[in-house]
Amino acid sequence: MRDWGISDIPVERNEGAMRRQRVASGALVGAVWLGLAALVAPPSAATPSDAPSAAPLVDPLGRQLGRDARDPSADPVPTPPVTPSQQEAPVPEPTPEPAPEPPAPGPDCAVLACVALTFDDGPGDYTALLLDDLAARGVPATFFVLGSQVDKHPDIVARMAAEGHAVGNHSWSHPRLTTLSAEEAGWQIDATTTIVQQTTGTTPTLVRPPYGVSNDTVLAVLAERGAAAIMWSVDTEDWRNRDVEITTQRALEGTEPGAIILMHDIHPTSVQAVPGIVDQLQAAGYTLVTVPELLGPTTPGQLYRNR
Ligand SMILES: [Zn+2]
Repeated sequence: MRDWGISDIPVERNEGAMRRQRVASGALVGAVWLGLAALVAPPSAATPSDAPSAAPLVDPLGRQLGRDARDPSADPVPTPPVTPSQQEAPVPEPTPEPAPEPPAPGPDCAVLACVALTFDDGPGDYTALLLDDLAARGVPATFFVLGSQVDKHPDIVARMAAEGHAVGNHSWSHPRLTTLSAEEAGWQIDATTTIVQQTTGTTPTLVRPPYGVSNDTVLAVLAERGAAAIMWSVDTEDWRNRDVEITTQRALEGTEPGAIILMHDIHPTSVQAVPGIVDQLQAAGYTLVTVPELLGPTTPGQLYRNR
């Protein structure tokens, strides 16, 4: 403070200082001394008459603080601490994203003829094409994914969720869960749940046991995890026939309101059959929905084949 010197004090900008310019220079020195005393002494020690005298010395310091606050390149020491929230608040987002719309109420499958297309064993090389076809028709589906495949194609699984499809759990590596211990089966479920969570931000609570085989042990493992077993009522056997026409025929002939149709998005013929299946189901009056939309809330440890 001593380094400032009297000449650094902007007395011409302060009313109190202007008054002092009209008095003897000795009085000015006295006022400066009082000001220094006011700066050093705690506020409770200063009398009301000390305050105007302290202003000239406070003012240079105050202007220094103000300059630092405006100029980020200045010495950061006097800058008041800023919390992260204060730092973020005034920064406008250059391209603010629109607020996410609340999910529209799903179709009422108690009234409508709902049917759910489900795809197992992916994501694979043809899943992106399938997503294109479904998006072009505005139709949702349910994907029972393998954790090991999510690990290879996380972007596709993220896209599924972003485009309104349901993502279920089909284990990590497709073992028969009935041949495993409860601990091993639990790992298959948990590892896949974790990677789906990390990829989509959503916890899958619908599990399709590989090969559709289950028993009390498997259902108990699912119940412990708040998950239900989701089987099917229409098996296209697309993995066996690998034929667009046969797959389509089986899907259409077996379907009735509340049906769950089993397909696999790892076979090109299965993916090729989907546009025709969707178009013909809709022409027959069906509303295509996800499994959560079809079933509504499910009971952990319960097994479902249709609505
Ligand atoms: Zn499978």
